Amino acid sequence: MLLTQLHTPEAPLKLKLVGVDCPLELRRSRRARRFSLKVSHTERAAILTLPQEVKIEEAGDFLARHMDWLKRQIDRLPEPVPFDNGAVLPLRGVSHKVSYVGAVRYQGVVWVEEADALMPAEGWNAAAAPCKIQQNPSNWIMSDTRAVPRICVSGGDTHGPRRLADWLRAEAKADLTRRTYHHAANLGVRPKRISVRDQSTRWGSCSSTGTICYSWRLIFAPEFVLDYVAAHEVAHLREMNHGPRFWRLVRETMPEMQKARAWLKQNGAELHRFGASS
Ligand SMILES: [Zn+2]
Repeated sequence: MLLTQLHTPEAPLKLKLVGVDCPLELRRSRRARRFSLKVSHTERAAILTLPQEVKIEEAGDFLARHMDWLKRQIDRLPEPVPFDNGAVLPLRGVSHKVSYVGAVRYQGVVWVEEADALMPAEGWNAAAAPCKIQQNPSNWIMSDTRAVPRICVSGGDTHGPRRLADWLRAEAKADLTRRTYHHAANLGVRPKRISVRDQSTRWGSCSSTGTICYSWRLIFAPEFVLDYVAAHEVAHLREMNHGPRFWRLVRETMPEMQKARAWLKQNGAELHRFGASS
């Protein structure tokens, strides 16, 4: 049974290992000459690639020999931040606290409240630093900590995470669409279609037919980073490669490109923490 399933490379087999905090994916590969084990930050999964012809028992032995290494790698994975009430997420690179505020009709489904400058930013807590706004006990939303801006989501914990995810995706699409057209105008091209997806391996892609796809997770990154990814994909509408001419085009429309590339290299994997479940 196990072996049969493993022979279909299109559908990797996912296993849960005792004492290991993330799923293990087994993949058969025709090209693989030996076992390879890696931990994917973006998918929060261990991936074991097996040569086509080896027996599954050998995979078990290989895994047993590398179990300590695997556990150490998994311990080093950044903690996921699920969309729970009170979670702190970066929105356009700025920390925001998620609040599921119950049934509030007049505000719309999701809205952002800026941090209240009157509230102390540091060391504030309900007991030690009461403030004016708190004197009105019925206004409980306002008495919450305002040191960081909040993303308020109407509804409770049940529908909140879904609503928040939809909203973030829509914000990402709006920002990416705006910046895509900006760079397209600069470079004299027109994208055919822009879409936003949950792609785990790339921040953006551009097809030869002119369709540009982005990862919605770019909404968590600072704005210049999202802007760079848009510039990068738009430049592919003129140069379908990563040669010197391509990079000249990116720099022409996005002078800060090096800063953004460095940011992505250093922090990109972090963007996958948010909304992930543990
Ligand atoms: Zn590219």
